[in-house]
Amino acid sequence: MITLSFHGAAGTVTGSKTLLTVNSRKILIDCGMFQGPKWLRQKNWTPPPFDPSDLDAVVLTHAHVDHIGYLPRLVQAGFSGKIYATAPSIEMAKILLLDAAHIQQEDADYRNRKKATSHARALPLFTVDDARKTFGQFTPVIFNRWKKLGDDVKFRYHAAGHILGAGSVEMKLNDGSRKTSILFSGDVGRYSTPLVVDPGRPPETDYLVCESTYGGEVHEPQDIFFEMARVMDDIQKRKSVLVIPAFAVGRTQQITYIINVLITQKRIPSVPIHIDSPMAVRVTDIYRRFPSYHSIHCDQLRRGKNVFYGKNVKLHRKRKSSKRLNKLKGPAIIMSASGMMTGGRILHHLINRLPDPRTTLLLVGFMAEGTLGRKIVDGAGSVYIHKMPVEVKARAVKLMGLSGHADSYELLHWLEPWQNSPKRVFVTHGEASRSEAMAGQIRKERRWDTFIPSLDETVEL
Ligand SMILES: [Zn+2]
Repeated sequence: MITLSFHGAAGTVTGSKTLLTVNSRKILIDCGMFQGPKWLRQKNWTPPPFDPSDLDAVVLTHAHVDHIGYLPRLVQAGFSGKIYATAPSIEMAKILLLDAAHIQQEDADYRNRKKATSHARALPLFTVDDARKTFGQFTPVIFNRWKKLGDDVKFRYHAAGHILGAGSVEMKLNDGSRKTSILFSGDVGRYSTPLVVDPGRPPETDYLVCESTYGGEVHEPQDIFFEMARVMDDIQKRKSVLVIPAFAVGRTQQITYIINVLITQKRIPSVPIHIDSPMAVRVTDIYRRFPSYHSIHCDQLRRGKNVFYGKNVKLHRKRKSSKRLNKLKGPAIIMSASGMMTGGRILHHLINRLPDPRTTLLLVGFMAEGTLGRKIVDGAGSVYIHKMPVEVKARAVKLMGLSGHADSYELLHWLEPWQNSPKRVFVTHGEASRSEAMAGQIRKERRWDTFIPSLDETVEL
């Protein structure tokens, strides 16, 4: 018997965890943390409805926290099998898990100091030690090469774009009575984005688990270099500080790269970029180590050290130097994590900068429901940060051209090479209305059977 259980990213975009069982073999595809509103985050504290010590393996599609952030809890709860991922995903996962542990520790300390907690004592979901305990289980797998997990399951990765090392997972399954196949899309990227490879051609399978982050939505066509130049002109004129909440891995490199290309081409004057993230250098090293996984070739990396970091780029590792940025005058750029403004150093910059009308806030990614980022995108006049009211007078500018996610037409385009209908498409990884919209489009355009699983639902294939 073959079953799929959706223990995350069902009715929401975060907490990706899909349990595949083939007879007694149990494989978890992605092991993400729930993010966003409190009721969702609290799910990270309740044990999953399966026994982690029963799992044979975890297969990761990519290294975003909503796909890997539950690993330390899984290992803590007894999972001792291998965690498969591509090599750059593993390196980024290590950095991201340590960072997530730090962010949680810092937030818990802050809440305890300010007594901003409804609990006796705020605790991190996992510690740096918990994060490190997962590292020994990571096992690299390269794109397009089959990996066997016993006689009944094998899988291989196909490039999915999105972020460095991201893949869709194709699986061939055999439960003794029949053979079948399934493709887990993971997060599918866009076409022709700076620094990121295009999504590859997805193999045809019997079943498809498809993300729907931007179901029913179309990203406005944007020339990202042109738009970024326009934002930069504006901050020069207004002597504005541009605050960019960005996923520290990938997005920060992409933005720095675009700005430095514009400076090199003399389309904009040089501007100081402050990267307030201790991860930046380590992440850039990963880009240097895995040139075949992104679109800047090795010789370009060797030739121009400033592909990512020019003289105008200052890195802030220590908290003290981060705090000095509070006095920074424009024109200048502060880039800091987290991308959805759910934690991390960006919060301190927002407390300091949001009430200042000279501040420009650049929104470059998806903001999940219930996050601070979403409230600001939706035009909130004031927000609460660390339980303190903060007025929003800063100008918010959206640059969706940098979204790491395909919109619904790009997803349909990605699926275009499929000649045969899959038996069923499971539409996941979207807020309810977006999954509905994506499923509707797939039915209308392709006439494929679609199914939107609810959280913790199990289906038999
Ligand atoms: Zn992702």
